[in-house]
Order: sequence, then structure tokens, then C-alpha cells
Amino acid sequence: VSDANPLKKLNQEIFVYVARKQQEIDELKKLEIFRREFLADVSHELKTPIFAAQGFIHTLLDGAMDDVKVRDKFLQKAAKSLDGLDALVKDLVALSQMETGEIRMHKEMVDLRLLTLEVCEQLEHKANLRKTLLKIKPDQLAHVWVKADAYRITQVMTNLIENAIKYGNDNGKVVVHFEEEKKHFVISVRDNGPGIPSEHLPRLFERFYRVDKSRSREKGGTGLGLAIVKHILSAHGSKISVASKVEKGTTFSFKLEKAD
Ligand code: ADP
Repeated sequence: VSDANPLKKLNQEIFVYVARKQQEIDELKKLEIFRREFLADVSHELKTPIFAAQGFIHTLLDGAMDDVKVRDKFLQKAAKSLDGLDALVKDLVALSQMETGEIRMHKEMVDLRLLTLEVCEQLEHKANLRKTLLKIKPDQLAHVWVKADAYRITQVMTNLIENAIKYGNDNGKVVVHFEEEKKHFVISVRDNGPGIPSEHLPRLFERFYRVDKSRSREKGGTGLGLAIVKHILSAHGSKISVASKVEKGTTFSFKLEKAD
């Protein structure tokens, strides 16, 4: 009996070891699948604007250049495709740096109200084109002091407000709301656009996930905006959430730590 016990113990240890190794192998397999899917997604996304620009340029070379109106239209389309390619490469680099932890957040005291005001000014032209009203609420909060990386949070606010304008309705309204809690501010960006059907909500923050592929591309989206937002907020110890009602609108919200 005394000999059986060490054997039993050894047996158990081997079992635990094998189980742990199996888990490691499973994780590596998952990572490999993720890497392969990512590469496939990226090459597909890169090919789309490249093929489009190639198409326009070859049509021009094949004779479309002779008609000035057609020439200008095709050149504009080729330029738009290349601008899209540029935005995509920039977003890809940012996302991959965030995923590998290469980008550090430089947290400082930031007035989020002022930062949001500046973002709204930057986006005013786009809002005017769609006759969208941009508002910051409530009026009585003169400053919203938080601890955050100003540059990265500017990216977050730009992405959310720009999406609200892009995917909202013409003559719509976008409201950025600040709510003070004991240790945090809750920030929300709300639009009164067409909303997002509930089945899409769980996947919205995945890279290249789009509710309406052709509409997003036509609006110049890279499909990476919300994935980047999620990463930046996670590096701030925060989480982005979304609530949406079809035909009523969408609200994205998150918390940031108050600066003392
Ligand atoms: P994109 O570059 O395509 O805009 P995002 O990651 O920023 O990519 O957004 C992912 C998708 O989520 C968009 O393609 C769009 O379908 C949907 N979406 C994002 N914001 C809104 C919004 N405010 N209202 C409706 N749909 C939205």
C-alpha cells in the first residue's frame, strides 16, 4: 500500500502536466488561427482600394482620359481609394502597436470638455455637410477634469462623434454628455440615427466588423475605428459599451477616472 501512494501521486502529476501542456497547445492553435484570419482580413481589405484605384487608372489609360469630365471623375475616384488605403494603413499600424503593447498611455490631467469642444470644431465641416447639430451637455459643467492620455482620448472622441455623424441621419443631432460620479465621469455619445440591430452589437468592436459593408466603405470607414477605441479605453482601465434602438439611435458610453 505504501508503494502505491507515490505511484498514484506521480500519475496525478503527469495528468496535471499533460493537461497544462494541452491547454498551452490549444492556446497556441487559437493564436495561429487568429493570426491567419487577421492576415486574410488585412490582405482582403488592402486589395479592395488597390484594385479600385488600379481600375480607374487603367480605364483612364485605355482612353477615358480624352473626355475631360470623365477624366476628372475617375481621377477623383482613384484619389479617394488611395486616401482610404492611407487611412487603413495608419489604423492598422496603430492597432498592431496597441495589441503588442508598444503604445504607452501618457496619463495627465485633461479637461475633457475642452478636448471635446476642439474635436467638435474639427468635425464641424463634416457635421455641416449632413446638417447635423453637435451638442455638449450639461451646460453648467464648465470643466471635466479626467486622468487620461489627451492624444489617445482625442482619437476616441473623434471616432465616436465622427461615426455618429456618418451613420446618423441628415438633420440629425449628436449629443456628448458628461455625468459626474464619485470617482469617475461617465461620457456618452448619442445620436438619433437609424440605430444598430441588436444581433450586431456583440461583434461591433471586432476589427473589420461592419453592420453594412458597402455603406461603411462608401463613407470612408476602415472598419477599425471601434476596435481602436476599445483598445485605448482598455489601456485606461475602462470599457466601452453600446446601447442602440432601431430607428431611435445609438449611444456609446465609457468611464474615465476623475483627476483630483
Ligand atoms: P468604420 O470605419 O466602418 O466606421 P468602426 O469600427 O468605426 O468602422 O464601426 C464599425 C461599424 O459599426 C460601422 O461600419 C457601422 O456599421 C457601425 N456603427 C458605428 N457607429 C455607429 C453609429 N453611431 N450608428 C450606427 N452604426 C454605427
